[in-house]
Amino acid sequence: MPRRRTFLLALTALTAGVLTGPTAANAAAAGPPPEKQPLAIGSGGAVATVDPDATRVGLDVLAAGGNAADAAVAAAAALGVTEPYSAGIGGGGFFVYYDAATGKVSTIDGRETAPLAMGADAFLDAHGNALPFEEAVESGLSVGTPGTPRTWTRALDEFGTLSLGQALQGAIRLADKGFVVDETFRQQTADNEAKFRRFAPTADLFLPGGAPPEVGSIFRNPDLADTYELLAAKGVDLVYTGELAHEIVTTVQDPPVAAGQPEVRSGLLEPVDLARYTAPDREPTHVDYRGLDVYGMPPPSSGGSTVGEALNILERFPMSSLSDVAALHRYLEASALAFADRNAYVGDPAYVQVPLAELLSDEFAAERACAIDPDMALPKPVPAGVPDGDYGPCPSGASATAAKGTEGLSTTHLTVADKAGDVASYTLTIEQTGGSGITVPGRGFLLNNELTDFTFKAADLTKPEPNLPAPGKRPRSSMSPTIVLNDGAPLLALGSPGGATIITTVLQTLVNRIDRHMSLLDAIAAPRASQRNNPTTDAEPAFLKKYGPALEKLGHEFAPVDEIGAATGVEFLPGGLLLAAAEPERRGGGSAGVVHEVAGNPDAGDPRLAPRIGNG
Ligand code: GLU
Repeated sequence: MPRRRTFLLALTALTAGVLTGPTAANAAAAGPPPEKQPLAIGSGGAVATVDPDATRVGLDVLAAGGNAADAAVAAAAALGVTEPYSAGIGGGGFFVYYDAATGKVSTIDGRETAPLAMGADAFLDAHGNALPFEEAVESGLSVGTPGTPRTWTRALDEFGTLSLGQALQGAIRLADKGFVVDETFRQQTADNEAKFRRFAPTADLFLPGGAPPEVGSIFRNPDLADTYELLAAKGVDLVYTGELAHEIVTTVQDPPVAAGQPEVRSGLLEPVDLARYTAPDREPTHVDYRGLDVYGMPPPSSGGSTVGEALNILERFPMSSLSDVAALHRYLEASALAFADRNAYVGDPAYVQVPLAELLSDEFAAERACAIDPDMALPKPVPAGVPDGDYGPCPSGASATAAKGTEGLSTTHLTVADKAGDVASYTLTIEQTGGSGITVPGRGFLLNNELTDFTFKAADLTKPEPNLPAPGKRPRSSMSPTIVLNDGAPLLALGSPGGATIITTVLQTLVNRIDRHMSLLDAIAAPRASQRNNPTTDAEPAFLKKYGPALEKLGHEFAPVDEIGAATGVEFLPGGLLLAAAEPERRGGGSAGVVHEVAGNPDAGDPRLAPRIGNG
């Protein structure tokens, strides 16, 4: 139900650039990118995103009296400007919200949908083989109906106080006046240069003067400012039944390939696919973990069920008192077991009977946990369990096939809390960094390649595959926006980008924070490993250095990767203070902020800054 208030005064101040801070400064001239701060403690509301301009936009909304839903939408729209390769109105995402007035956690499913014309063989060639992944990404075929515009209006209508037009003002100003290019933006552009060159409107927009923009230059996106203005004035029906719907369909069916570039596959979207799109409410997943209530995103995301199942498995071990290596061994084994079940059972619930209650039951977790040998890693891949309600002693003997994940490493997560205690945990994406590479001509935003999250071809043709394409179906996601309550009150919220590693990043961060008693920032910064039921476990160099040899003795095999995830989170401290934390290093680091910062060091014994759980 809408709870609109008038924010005209405050928003006039915002659009006039009266408020100071990085956003206002950017408009002036080229210079160094705004400072990033990974930790902020204070009151009046908190925002943590990957980007200082987006965090500033969210904080400005909170300072002007907006709530967590308003600030989350405003910050997400700003990320559409400054992180256009990860987020924007051409993509989708999942919005998890704690409403302090009702004490209820709700979710909005803004996942993209497949066209009605898409069948199970959509990503197979004439011989029945899976298409090369890049060929599928850089095509109209991979573009699903965007869910983000509908998510924003649904979030504002259900929980917010601002109109869409009001919530978009900060982003409009950012797109119009521009932002200072940082190394992450330059590098992501450079990494995508070949893809962007394939599509004329993308090359024009993101390769100004024919090359990635320089660090320190101002990047403007007037087309996106105009598109946001249009949405502000006319509403998001424009995307689903109006002129933008028409343009999206035309672009997908006939991608704007640049002169001299090879043709790409055209897409199957029709006007009906956009017209029938909804972003439904879904009951959040819930597990009790050591007396805390952990809420997450249900199918079509596998985030809530997989994080939840792994937590239930880990709850059976004394994770606080084990050595680092013994705790990490159990974390890796629980991840493998939960991923086996995710791969076997989770898909769009409108198409697949997902045994969600069983996957999240303590009894099933007990059966899965008994497979874990404290002294020896299980051979990977492990077989899926049988979540049928009939559990007994450790089952054995089934065979298993590793499923190759095709999710990208893009995406962005933002976490917002307001002074009333409302919390938004919101992960959004256009799938790969740079999505399909296709910009809607003259509109300033990239279209997603989310449909490559479908399984192109079942790994084991003798078993049911829950994530094959189908008409109107939502591809399975790994996005894991999470909110944790303690005795009905919010304790912390977090999420991360990173494709299927999102799940392990959120899981490992929760274990670090809740069981290993790290501060939220340390929990986010700690070296990571990600075991997704593959023969090898991905691990960062710092993880391998510290724990690799001891875990290898237990039978774990590692594949080194540069970095995994880039989380953001917010924690509620005693006395009404909030702690915002963002990734300090990975992907160039994120940006945490609060409306009124308090001085003090959380490690220096100030009781106001002592966390409610653990030693911090
Ligand atoms: N498409 C992925 C998912 O929904 C996220 C993409 C990414 O993080 O790179 O799980």
